[in-house]
Amino acid sequence: MSTDLPALPDDFARVLAVAAHPDDLEYGAAAAVAAWTSSGREVSYVLVTRGEAGIADLPPEKAGPLREDEERRSAAVVGVHDVRFLEHRDGVVVEGIDLRRDLAREIRRARPELVVVNSHHETFGPGAWNSADHRAVGRATIDAAGDAANRWIFPELVDEGFEPWQVRYVAVASSTQPTHTLDVTGHQEAAIASLAEHQAYLTALDPRPVAEQAREVVLATTGGDDGRARVDFEVF
Ligand SMILES: [Zn+2]
Repeated sequence: MSTDLPALPDDFARVLAVAAHPDDLEYGAAAAVAAWTSSGREVSYVLVTRGEAGIADLPPEKAGPLREDEERRSAAVVGVHDVRFLEHRDGVVVEGIDLRRDLAREIRRARPELVVVNSHHETFGPGAWNSADHRAVGRATIDAAGDAANRWIFPELVDEGFEPWQVRYVAVASSTQPTHTLDVTGHQEAAIASLAEHQAYLTALDPRPVAEQAREVVLATTGGDDGRARVDFEVF
């Protein structure tokens, strides 16, 4: 991670974090969320799917409610109590008008100055292909931030009572092209505890204790090379 990036702007009071699946925000971004909520910012989560296709041994009708519950507990650990699920189908999220409309509605509902989403890029780096759902949700969220400000793109949202809203920044976490950084020193333990709430999901992926897995992931994604913890973002 770069040490010479400018600091992420801090002139905002409300944040909306968007993710494709339960657990996506907990792979790094949750440390930033913990920093924001502990400084009095209001943060909401929108999950495009319930992550129901994420556990190989558990059918979607059982995995969906379980993963939704894990995500709500995970959010609460970092001070987020407004968690909404759009219930697009896990694994086959379509980047298109329907998703943009759904996300524009959520942006107008939450009225955030800052929208956070995970990487829309094709890879997380050499040899690490990003998933189709992540690419679709990332790109649609960046587009929806623009849509939310335009009265005429989805006029039906105005009919539903959601007036246009201008987002100030979109910050992409886990990007291969970060432009800004946020110091999250002191918030790694909250992020580890947040990820560890994905008990069933992490246990299905890896037999090691969940707490150990969560610590390893969060330290890897927030460990600076100067003893400070950071989360980097690509800001639009
Ligand atoms: Zn995911």
